[in-house]
Amino acid sequence: MNAPFKPTNEAATNFARRHIGPSPRDIAAMLETVGAKSLDALMAETLPSSIRQKTPLDLGLALSETEALAHMRELASQNQVFTSLIGQGYSGTILPAVIQRNILENPAWYTAYTPYQPEISQGRLEALFNFQTMICDLAGLDVANASLLDEATAAAEAMALAERAAQAKTKSFFVDAEVHPQTLAVLRTRAEPLGWNLIVGDPAVDLERADVFGGLLQYPDTSGAVRDLKPAIASLHAKGALAIVAADLLALTLLASPGELGADIAIGSAQRFGVPMGYGGPHAAYMAVRDALKRSLPGRIVGLSVDSRGEPAYRLALQTREQHIRREKATSNICTAQVLLAVIASMYAVYHGPEGLTEIARRVHRRTAVLAAGLRKLGFALKSEAFFDTVTVDVGGRRDEIVARAFAEKLNLRIGEGTLGIALDETTTPATVEAVWRAFGGALAYADIEASAREALPAELKRASAFLTHPVFHAHRSETELLRYMRKLSDRDLALDRAMIPLGSCTMKLNATSEMIPLTWPEFGNLHPFAPRAQAAGYHALFARLEQWLCDITGYDAISLQPNSGAQGEYAGLLAIRGYHAARGEPHRNVCLIPSSAHGTNPASASMVGMTVVVVACDKRGDVDVNDLRAKVEQHSKNLAAVMITYPSTHGVFEEHIREICDIVHSHGGQVYLDGANMNAQVGLSRPGDYGADVSHLNLHKTFCIPHGGGGPGMGPIGVKAHLAPFLPGHPANCHPATEGATPHAVGPVSAAPFGSASILTISYIYILMMSGDGLTRATEIAILNANYIATKLDAHFPVLYRNARGRVAHECIVDPRPLKNSSGVTVDDIAKRLIDYGFHAPTMSFPVPGTLMIEPTESESKAELDRFCDAMIAIRREIAEIEQGRWKVEASPLRHAPHTVHDIADDAWSRAYSRAEGCFPAGTSRTDKYWCPVGRVDNVYGDRNLVCSCPPVEAYAQAAE
Ligand SMILES: *Cc1c(COP(=O)(O)O)cnc(C)c1O
Repeated sequence: MNAPFKPTNEAATNFARRHIGPSPRDIAAMLETVGAKSLDALMAETLPSSIRQKTPLDLGLALSETEALAHMRELASQNQVFTSLIGQGYSGTILPAVIQRNILENPAWYTAYTPYQPEISQGRLEALFNFQTMICDLAGLDVANASLLDEATAAAEAMALAERAAQAKTKSFFVDAEVHPQTLAVLRTRAEPLGWNLIVGDPAVDLERADVFGGLLQYPDTSGAVRDLKPAIASLHAKGALAIVAADLLALTLLASPGELGADIAIGSAQRFGVPMGYGGPHAAYMAVRDALKRSLPGRIVGLSVDSRGEPAYRLALQTREQHIRREKATSNICTAQVLLAVIASMYAVYHGPEGLTEIARRVHRRTAVLAAGLRKLGFALKSEAFFDTVTVDVGGRRDEIVARAFAEKLNLRIGEGTLGIALDETTTPATVEAVWRAFGGALAYADIEASAREALPAELKRASAFLTHPVFHAHRSETELLRYMRKLSDRDLALDRAMIPLGSCTMKLNATSEMIPLTWPEFGNLHPFAPRAQAAGYHALFARLEQWLCDITGYDAISLQPNSGAQGEYAGLLAIRGYHAARGEPHRNVCLIPSSAHGTNPASASMVGMTVVVVACDKRGDVDVNDLRAKVEQHSKNLAAVMITYPSTHGVFEEHIREICDIVHSHGGQVYLDGANMNAQVGLSRPGDYGADVSHLNLHKTFCIPHGGGGPGMGPIGVKAHLAPFLPGHPANCHPATEGATPHAVGPVSAAPFGSASILTISYIYILMMSGDGLTRATEIAILNANYIATKLDAHFPVLYRNARGRVAHECIVDPRPLKNSSGVTVDDIAKRLIDYGFHAPTMSFPVPGTLMIEPTESESKAELDRFCDAMIAIRREIAEIEQGRWKVEASPLRHAPHTVHDIADDAWSRAYSRAEGCFPAGTSRTDKYWCPVGRVDNVYGDRNLVCSCPPVEAYAQAAE
């Protein structure tokens, strides 16, 4: 690859200096604190010399922010934005500017983490609660989750749910022949390793005889037809199978809901509620279920509970279903989902309200009916006379001529075998409809046809039930009100725009503003994922370079950009391993070794590909116990498929034995899956592909600056060595040179779109462009320095649990407050909540070691912020000492009552042993710049016992809305 980048302004190219927190002078001081002579010396003490990268990372010259944005403009100009009428699950939509500016482009929303600490997350939890309410109302079901990755994977999750929950214990699943093709493809991927058989057919004809545990129906179907699904659903129920309906949310404002038709589960995409298509994503998928299925629902669910004062407070509910607790027995492997996009979709509904959404739906339907009338007039037959926003036209031999004229009008149609599909959306104008007619060979005027158009929704399927009756969907109709509502919610939350978020394993680094700019440009935002490849030349240039850079960084030979989370990357990587063994005539290899310290997604992903998880012990140092590994490898030698290992380990240490571990596994025919979530400790210093790993995922939302969005989006591309490259995920849309044509072994797809959440790849791309190899390497070194600085400063107060033989930690460290529980009764929860009073987000709690805190500062935090954090931790240690010394019991201490709120400072009946000021403004914290969390400590047990996951409809509003 030729480096196309010629920086012109040397002085301005120092983006790396702004990305990295500590100044050169701070770095010198910090090196002294940790007792290292230089950064190089510190690296030599941290990483085993056997894995060090020999040549410096060279990715070309660094561009300044200005230059990088100019380059992005140039790439964007290579994409051609046609009007998309392709449909197939992706629609044009109008993102209200007030939501774009104040949510999508607002770091208070996009830099937040998954709301595991509910007290500092009430704003986004409320927005997600609104999302769930919206989904429950539109779907006519009882419980919805707070988003899944895309419609196709949501369908696969629903299939798995049906298999767990249905009475019918068969291994077959029915799929409507009229589901979106990418959904069918993802279902095939998911079903095959688990030995499930897909029966694809016409529900009206083929379902009766099928012996299945569940069935998936599309509503309206992929060609646009609106069918009555009640008979098919009844037929599924008669055999003890669960009925799943993939439904379009906008259509549901006019059509009877899946719940009303009898469905057990509804899934789909919330993309058309204001989220740009983005050449595939990110968007939020949804899933809703009947009450009886709620404990099997995958993904995160926001529930209502109470806080320490008995006031309502949101938090994540039923977490015991999830991978971090249930591991290989979890309901799914999902971790990162699509929170930011779910928030946008919920605000779109708050902005429009039920009448606004209905009006949009009516207008889209009206235009479609007019389009249909014109097409009939031009002599074309429609595949179905009952439709919402999509019609499919029989065009026979005239297809190519019509498509050519459509291209000349800058229209993309859905091209079928002798058919053309036309899907309208809220952006469609009468002029678009007239352009379609011209493509079909007729010069008709919209106004002339309008009178002859008739509604095409079947009378018996019209929606009669109210939806979005809760006040939140009525109270924010002016922009002023909505702006203030969004501001109110974001003010309740603590994101990176307020303070360091030292979450171990999550890499909460800077998401620079420049990195966030291009993704909302129409040339990146408004492309349909199945638009002709020639219209996406800018995107494909970006993909090719990004893949090359990621290969250079990791030492792998090929990259797939398809998986849209780390967990999906694991799934794709394990599928590749599985495909490789099968192609070598060893399909029986199905044992996956996973150390006890692994992230919960690892075992959950292994079980999704039908592998048997065998746990490998860790030794006292926290390293993989090589003797145990050797024993397990020998025991399972014949059936060994893979080891999944995180490096540096989840304990935050570079283990010396990594090469040896890889060799042992290889010598028994196994493959090495190296979880690359901790790549932030390696970029520029060591490459997994060089020291024995075969495949890794990279969390672009950790190491490569995609913001966490409060729990998504993310991207989890995988890198593989050459022998696994043929087994990277393919896609029916076939847009990738590596997977086009001759790839008989390609597995997958694993995502609805060929390049996953393509639009946010722009973020990682510019980051690398502005950092270059030198900047990235420096970032890694500072990430390691920052972690060692914290380890050094805190060790005397909270002992650091694991270090390497030379006393160094990698890019994160675990501190161990467990002994203090014996001496004072203070729990890790108390410390986490007390940190909120000091203005901080807690570190990662109880992962990977129960009762401990894992701290990851990243390179972006300055020395001043690290000091502020360490001071807070040390002050908390002093507060614990006061309990140890008997000043008061833990139950009476500020630690147990943390976090403190305005209700505490204003409490006239204050009767605690400590003063209100001591509770609210602990040592050294600013009174002026205090972050007030809106609720006291949230009661998790109460919330799970009294599960409330959507706003109860308010009768008064229900009537008012009629
Ligand atoms: C974050 C993480 C994952 C999962 O990544 P998601 O994108 O959240 O699915 C897997 N392994 C480790 C070690 C992680 O830290």
